[in-house]
Amino acid sequence: MLSVLKERKDINITENAVMAPYTTFQIGGPADVLIEPATKEAFIEAYKILKESGVLVTVIGAGSNLLISDKGIRGAVIRLTKPFSKVEQDGNVLTAEAGVSLAKLAAKALSSGLSGLEFASGIPGSLGGAVFMNAGAYGGEMKDVVVETEYLAADGSVKTVCGEAHQFDYRKSIFSLEGGIVLASKLQLTSGNPETIRATMQELNGRRRDKQPLNYPSAGSFFKRPVGHFAGKLVEDAGLKGTTFGGAQISEKHAGFVINLGGATAEDVCKLMDYVKTKVFEQFGVTLEPEVRMLGEF
Ligand SMILES: Cc1cc2nc3c(=O)[nH]c(=O)nc-3n(C[C@H](O)[C@H](O)[C@H](O)COP(=O)(O)OP(=O)(O)OC[C@H]3O[C@@H](n4cnc5c(N)ncnc54)[C@H](O)[C@@H]3O)c2cc1C
Repeated sequence: MLSVLKERKDINITENAVMAPYTTFQIGGPADVLIEPATKEAFIEAYKILKESGVLVTVIGAGSNLLISDKGIRGAVIRLTKPFSKVEQDGNVLTAEAGVSLAKLAAKALSSGLSGLEFASGIPGSLGGAVFMNAGAYGGEMKDVVVETEYLAADGSVKTVCGEAHQFDYRKSIFSLEGGIVLASKLQLTSGNPETIRATMQELNGRRRDKQPLNYPSAGSFFKRPVGHFAGKLVEDAGLKGTTFGGAQISEKHAGFVINLGGATAEDVCKLMDYVKTKVFEQFGVTLEPEVRMLGEF
């Protein structure tokens, strides 16, 4: 099966690929095989061949919301990033492929004088991962701008979902709820003044730099926001800033972030997560749930 895929020039294949470098956390053992398709057609072809051969398939984007197991991921990981990142403009609508980075997409909106993606310019994910997660920040979320998504369904057919059928909710979408691989989305933006759009992006990214430990590897906010609370505040109020297990630490700068001090393992992160969950529950009766997606054997 791999030999068929290896013959194609538009698919890059690495066997026994250590995943840490493909995540912003810099953590994770080997995937049996890592597949990087250059086009939508190559992706669909690879996906179908793998599925028909009974291979377990995991799709990732920029790896900015992942904790990958130290034992790695069995089966194939398909990574949708740069080569899969065409963006087209039609009036106030941008149509973008899943692998485009939110930074590039926001920059395209800015250069086209389109407002609506200011919130996303500092989120280090791909469009596909952001739609899957309904990523959001500073009062904006993907839900506000995504009007249509083309996706690959489990049966290998390409389908489209529109509007409310995306089932967007806090860090949820139809894709996280029911499966399906995001191939491309249409984003409805509004025309705006480029100087205002730029100023907003700069302001929000400045706030990120001031508040977040961006000089350490992490996966962003580690825990979901529990209803009626802020995860970071609960962790801080429990006196847990700076708590360290191995190479994993609750950031001193922002208690909502778990950072990799260097050489952290997924096991370190899990021990830290369990400790923090226990302490927060003991003190406040609130159960924290990870926002990061845990992939592989835990
Ligand atoms: C410093 C930092 C700051 C962050 N700030 C924010 C923030 O402000 N707001 C926020 O919401 N998030 C934030 N994040 C988290 C992260 O950037 C977002 O969740 C982002 O949307 C994840 O996109 P990704 O491409 O990296 O997805 P990945 O991490 O690669 O994958 C995340 C999930 O999406 C799935 N997935 C990926 N691509 C696809 C696809 N094409 N089709 C279907 N499923 C797919 C994966 O299987 C996985 O379950 C931050 C992360 C970091 C490191």
